[in-house]
Amino acid sequence: MTERLYRDDPYLLDFDAVVVARRLHDDRPAVVLDRTAFYAESGGQPWDTGTLGGARVVAVVDENGDVLHVLDAPIAEDGVHGQVDGPRRLDHMQQHHGQHLLSRALVEVASARTLSFHLGAEDVTIDLDRHVSDEDLRKAERRTNEIVWQARPVSVREVTRQEAESLLAGEIGRLHGGPAPDGRAQSRSARALDEAGERIRLIEAQGFDLQACSGTHPRSTAEVGVVLVLSHERYKGGSRIRFVCGHRAVAAMHRRQQVLDEVGAAFSSGLAGLPDAARRVLSQLRESERRGEDLLDRAMEGEARRLLAEAGRASTLIVVHAYDGWPAADLRVLAGHLVALASCVALLGSRTDKAHLVFAQSEGLPHDVPALLREALVLVGGRGGGRGNLTQGGGDRISGLDEALIQAERAVRARTAGA
Ligand SMILES: [Zn+2]
Repeated sequence: MTERLYRDDPYLLDFDAVVVARRLHDDRPAVVLDRTAFYAESGGQPWDTGTLGGARVVAVVDENGDVLHVLDAPIAEDGVHGQVDGPRRLDHMQQHHGQHLLSRALVEVASARTLSFHLGAEDVTIDLDRHVSDEDLRKAERRTNEIVWQARPVSVREVTRQEAESLLAGEIGRLHGGPAPDGRAQSRSARALDEAGERIRLIEAQGFDLQACSGTHPRSTAEVGVVLVLSHERYKGGSRIRFVCGHRAVAAMHRRQQVLDEVGAAFSSGLAGLPDAARRVLSQLRESERRGEDLLDRAMEGEARRLLAEAGRASTLIVVHAYDGWPAADLRVLAGHLVALASCVALLGSRTDKAHLVFAQSEGLPHDVPALLREALVLVGGRGGGRGNLTQGGGDRISGLDEALIQAERAVRARTAGA
C-alpha cells in the first residue's frame, strides 16, 4: 500500500522515496514507491506527470492499492527523487474543484444532479440527470463564481462511513452514484468509498459543498479562478455541460477572441457589428444565387431553342448533344426546356471529371427513358437510372460518353420507326 502524500498536501510537488517493487505495465517499465506525491488516475481526474530520477513518469495507475508509476525508461537506483509537473497538477485542481462547485450550484439552482464527470485535455464535461435551461445554467455559473471569489476555505477530513452517510444525508451513491455511462469516469463517491474502505474522505468548500472524493483540491475556492460554461446539450434525458476553469477559461476566451478577430477581418467588421455583417453577406449571397438561377434558366431556354432549330422539323425530334464542363444540374435545366418547347426526346451529356447523362422526353412520348439511361450508363461505367420522363446518371469512363449517346439515339430511332 503506497502512502499517498497528495492526500495531506496537494501542493507537495517534490519528494524522496524508495522503490519497493519493479513491474511491467503494457510493456513499459513501472515502479511502486513506499510513498508518492503523484496522483493516480481516479474518479475522473487524470494522473500526474513528472520525473522519477532520470525517467519521465508517463502514467500513474492505481493497482490494488499500490500506486504504479509508469516510466519512459527503467530506473536502476532504489532511492529516487520525484518531481510532479506543477502546472498540470494546478490545472487538474482548478478543473476538478471547479466541477465540485458547479455541480453543487446546479443542485441548488435547478435540482440537477451530476451523474458523471470527465476531465479532458481541452475541456471538462459533466452529465446531469435532468435538462437545465439556459437561464438556470447562467444562474448556476454566476453562483459558482461568487463562491470562487468569496475565497472560501476548502478542507479535507476523514470520517467513518456511518458519519459520512449522515453528513451527506444519503448523497453518497446518489450525487455521483451508479455505473458510469460510456466508460466515462467511475462515479467519484463510489470510487472514494472503494478506496477508503470504512474511512471516507470528505472535501468541503466551507458552507457550500460537501462531497466524498479522493482527488486533489486547493486550499481555497479562489484558486479555481473562474468557471466558464462553454455549452450544453441534451444528453440521455438530461444535459451534458461543457465548461472550463482557471487557466483554461482564459485560454478559451483567447481562442474565441482570435476566431472572432479573424472573422471580423474577413467581414471588415468590429465585434458588435459582426452578426449584422454576416447576415448582410448571407442575404447578398442568396440574392446572387437567385439571380444566377434566373440567368441560367434564360440561357438554357435560349440554348434549347437553338438546339431545336438545328434538329429540324421532324414530327418527333431527337436532340442529341454533348458539352464540355457543364454540371449535371445545367443539363437538367436544358432538358426541361427542350421537352417543354417541343415534342422531343433529349439525350444530353457532359464531360467534367466524370461523364454525366441526362435523358428526357416530352409528355405523351412512348420511350422507356430510365431503361435508355441504364443501358447508356453501362458504357460510361456508371450505375443507376431513375424514374419518369427525366432521368440523370453518371460514370467515371468519360471516353464512353459519345458512344453512350449514339447508342441511345439508335434505340430511340428504332422504337420510333417501329411504332
Ligand atoms: Zn473531488
